[in-house]
Amino acid sequence: MEYTRRTTNPVQVGRLQIGGGAPVRLQSMLNTSTNDTGASVEQAIRIVRAGGELVRATTQGVKEAANMALIRRELDRRGYEAVPLVADVHFNPKVADEALLHCEKVRINPGNYAQTYDEIEQKFPAFLQACRAHGTAIRIGVNHGSLSRRMLDRYGDTPEGMVASCMEFLRICQREGFDQVVLSVKASNTRVMVYTVRQLVRAMEAEDMHYPLHLGVTEAGAGEDGRIKSAVGIGTLLAEGLGDTIRVSLSEAPEAEIPVARRIVALSAKTPAPAGPLEYRRRCPAAGQVRVMADGSEIPAGWQVVEAGQPVAGDAPAVVHWRYDNADFEEFILEGAVATGRYFINGDADGLWIEAPKIAPESVRRYGYDLLQATRARMSKTEYISCPTCGRTLFDMETTLARVKAATAHLSHLKIGVMGCIVNGPGEMADADYGYVGAGRGTISLYQGKTCIEKNIPEAEAVGRLIALIKQYGDWREPLSNPETIQTN
Ligand code: SF4
Repeated sequence: MEYTRRTTNPVQVGRLQIGGGAPVRLQSMLNTSTNDTGASVEQAIRIVRAGGELVRATTQGVKEAANMALIRRELDRRGYEAVPLVADVHFNPKVADEALLHCEKVRINPGNYAQTYDEIEQKFPAFLQACRAHGTAIRIGVNHGSLSRRMLDRYGDTPEGMVASCMEFLRICQREGFDQVVLSVKASNTRVMVYTVRQLVRAMEAEDMHYPLHLGVTEAGAGEDGRIKSAVGIGTLLAEGLGDTIRVSLSEAPEAEIPVARRIVALSAKTPAPAGPLEYRRRCPAAGQVRVMADGSEIPAGWQVVEAGQPVAGDAPAVVHWRYDNADFEEFILEGAVATGRYFINGDADGLWIEAPKIAPESVRRYGYDLLQATRARMSKTEYISCPTCGRTLFDMETTLARVKAATAHLSHLKIGVMGCIVNGPGEMADADYGYVGAGRGTISLYQGKTCIEKNIPEAEAVGRLIALIKQYGDWREPLSNPETIQTN
């Protein structure tokens, strides 16, 4: 099958074109304080040297939005005038109005731009006019877990609600004749993310709209899990020809995201796929729990083997078979996720059989379970939803995540959110069972589901109190004596 990409309008972001046949653009986001010009510029340069083409920064208030002018000026002075800056705006349209003066692109979140439709009509058209006057592009960025009350009441926190929220703002752009728009509908749950993007594309097609797409899996986490989740979500869509710019959100240094993003783009073009179904539907529920198989002898009689990249046909339960002949473990985990993840995202396969003779058998087996977890086909360990950090982050994410994981990694029945701030964290940890959220400098708030149970705990005590909270709600299990044993449920 030949790789073809969806045709989109070109959007000019400073000197960089997104969509309209341009290569898939790679981007990352600063996690410095946006008011710290020096640190922000240094980090932006590290992102660019790694291959990043756009740099986004959080702009919590008008002060941060205004400081983007100083970051811009310093980047220009150091020879990085071609690198567009993107301001990330939540909650305050006035911040977006300031940011558009200094940045090449402004991201707004329809979930918190305004609460009523009248308010949107008062503010958004004027914002578009100002963007047009300054040559600033925008991103309409909807996230699972941060829809407006109005959308939640009507649709719940669903793909339909995310698409409706996006389309409402898009129709205003159409009416106002403003076409410098990129769209994103992101989620931490890869299935929700993939199905929402597909639905959005169909909704746009129905109205003859061709805006470019920014893809990302939010709060993907760190290390192998973050990479697998990102490759499954982003790679599945890119392989279908959807996506014009991507951000891999890892709870690591921002520049570490870029090589991963570059590989996902390259691998997706190598493994083109037809568009998947609109709704998730397990083809063969009668096959039982989705399985990982170490070799062909474990395949039950009557099941079919489908080579990765080939379509599944007929009614028999299907095992996807993928072979990897190199020894590069990072490439192995990304390539496997792009080549096989879509079968499990779509509900098309009942088993995974990976042959990788140059990778340790135990690593291959563990990876199989991790991949099923990333596609939500089978949960076998604690699911962590951790934010990629930004200028709002209130603690060191890498060390905190490591501490939380050390205490809870055996709780395979739970999803735990570790989020850097109270502003967006509680909403964006989506369906986490428990949440560890930065409340202030050195203080943490703990959540059970969406409810804040303990506020402003000193950071040094927070992991212990999280464990106590999980025990209080009856969700604690004692760790097994052999932590290497893979638990499945
Ligand atoms: S949850 Fe807060 S700290 Fe984390 S990336 Fe989102 S806004 Fe930044």
